Amino acid sequence: MTDLSHIQGVIWDLDDTLYSVNADLKRSMRESVAKTVVDMGHSISYEEALKLAEESQAVHRLTVRLLLEKFNLTHEELHIPFHANMDHSVIPADERLPLAFESAGHLDHVLVTHASRDWALRMLDHLGIADFFRPEAIFGLENIDFEKKESSERATKTGLSVMGLNPDQVMFAEDRDYNLAIPHRLGLTTVLIDHPSQPRDLPAHVHYRFDNAADLLDAVLQSLHQSSKTAKK
Ligand SMILES: [Mg+2]
Repeated sequence: MTDLSHIQGVIWDLDDTLYSVNADLKRSMRESVAKTVVDMGHSISYEEALKLAEESQAVHRLTVRLLLEKFNLTHEELHIPFHANMDHSVIPADERLPLAFESAGHLDHVLVTHASRDWALRMLDHLGIADFFRPEAIFGLENIDFEKKESSERATKTGLSVMGLNPDQVMFAEDRDYNLAIPHRLGLTTVLIDHPSQPRDLPAHVHYRFDNAADLLDAVLQSLHQSSKTAKK
């Protein structure tokens, strides 16, 4: 059985980890990037920008890519306004999630997202789990100098330092397996929250896979109960 009774803290990703990105949010992302480039004063109509966002999402799976290329913009320039214009309310909140956080009350939580901190604050609040994260434990990409999880130790080391825990006490939860390679190398327990894009056979740097965040928290809680039962015997 999965033994997670030693886990004291979790470093969470946000999008597609604590909730699932749905068609309505994808639409909101297209509308948001179109509005953002128009607001920035670039010479394009909202309708044309929206068309490019649609093509970008369909062909490149990255909503902002074609508009970045067209206007020679960097991700950093678009990061804050793009996320500010996105609508968190299109995501249905799952009531299992706050209950699962509440039940596994011994855990400390850090969130590190490649989105912006403002987006993370709004979404955590909307999902009903904001109270489980201290304000100093929530990081947007802009708070870690745009160092991404697949190529930098920054997210992992920042999370460990905020919690004051050792790597072997902490779990790193993500929906993209490549973002788990560095946490694995640094000695954390790595968990993939399943997503259709992900490999069916687990890569060596992924310890566990769960369907969603609530299932992960339930598994930690079960491990804890199991190990206290064993200790009493
Ligand atoms: Mg994600």
